[in-house]
Amino acid sequence: HTITRPRPIPSPLRFSKFFQSNLRILVTGGAGFIGSHLVDKLMENEKNEVIVVDNYFTGSKDNLKKWFGHPRFELIRHDVTETLLVEVDQIYHLACPASPIFYKYNPVKTIKTNVIGTLNMLGLAKRVGARILLTSTSEVYGDPLEHPQKEEYWGNVNPIGVRSCYDEGKRVAETLMFDYHRQHGLEIRIARIFNTYGPRMNIDDGRVVSNFIAQAIRGEPLTVQAPGTQTRSFCYVSDMVDGLIRLMEGDNTGPINIGNPGEFTMTELAETVKELINPAVPIKNVENTPDDPRQRKPNITKAKELLGWEPKITLREGLPFMEEDFRQRLGVPKQHVT
Ligand code: NAD
Ligand code: UDP
Ligand code: UDP
Repeated sequence: HTITRPRPIPSPLRFSKFFQSNLRILVTGGAGFIGSHLVDKLMENEKNEVIVVDNYFTGSKDNLKKWFGHPRFELIRHDVTETLLVEVDQIYHLACPASPIFYKYNPVKTIKTNVIGTLNMLGLAKRVGARILLTSTSEVYGDPLEHPQKEEYWGNVNPIGVRSCYDEGKRVAETLMFDYHRQHGLEIRIARIFNTYGPRMNIDDGRVVSNFIAQAIRGEPLTVQAPGTQTRSFCYVSDMVDGLIRLMEGDNTGPINIGNPGEFTMTELAETVKELINPAVPIKNVENTPDDPRQRKPNITKAKELLGWEPKITLREGLPFMEEDFRQRLGVPKQHVT
């Protein structure tokens, strides 16, 4: 038998749209690295009102301080694993620690954030009739047996490994998105984000680009985890934000890979950082962590064809912007390189 389900009830905000064309946008995880850049971009449009929800686990109010007091901006300390009642038209759901050292620090909390947090944001989207975008990850491909990775690839993930709170968490989040779409008719968008870098990354968050840049500026050895031949593809944050907004505004549910197809081994990345930032620092090989994917590179044909999007900033162009930001925060001006 079929179950007749009520359609989402339009929120009062929806009715108010007859009188004004402002869009109220919720950004979960908006105090984080990608989230705060996304907020900056959304705030540039005078028709947007932005509400950020964040528990400050890995993010910081500092990232948003230029918007404090702005009439179109609101910041709420809130954990997405708890029910949230707001009236919005769009939801960018980013809340989730992204760096392996942070998501492994409290794996149970990470999976709760991915599963219960996404369920709550979907329940909210359903209640108010909002469109919702999930920032999923290239980690859903695990240690990929297909290279480069297309969206059709189902992945190779260890379900009981130390990374699975994140990988499997995001895979369930994607499943929930599609089930709400099929069962309740929600408008969903899924971005599979590949490694992203840029200003405002947490200096000590353990990710490879932030580690190497901080090490080079501090005059410490660059720590390449064994074997050093593993690859990643690095996307500059402004390109990423542009891709996310295009996905939200377009007609495709995704999943769509958003990333820069330029592929580098970790040894090549260390050599590039050394050359650009501090040729005096040595490169040191150190032990790796379990289940580290050996290769990763997005196939971005879909993003190109469906979103008209491709990255513009190469790694060599992007690294100096990040160096400048890290030097300011570390208090080490360029001329004082040791
Ligand atoms: P980030 O850690 O800087 O930002 C995540 C934000 O979410 C932080 O501000 C954090 O405080 C907040 N948060 C975490 N748990 C929360 C909770 N339970 N309730 C409310 N807020 C919570 O990470 P980022 O690099 O900006 O990543 C943003 C999103 O993009 C994440 O969903 C991540 O999985 C995804 N992603 C990022 C990358 C990357 O390379 N940066 C790659 C793939 C996917
Ligand atoms: N939810 C929320 N805000 C809302 C509506 C729902 O946080 O405005 C949460 C709610 O607490 C629930 C989840 O979203 O746990 C899923 O909601 P849904 O209505 O889909 O499921 P149900 O409440 O029927 O289990
Ligand atoms: N890595 C490294 N040195 C570091 C930190 C990380 O060589 O100081 C390597 C790590 O082993 C992995 C790659 O860099 O192969 C990317 O790691 P990161 O934690 O940045 O992100 P991931 O893509 O694994 O989520």
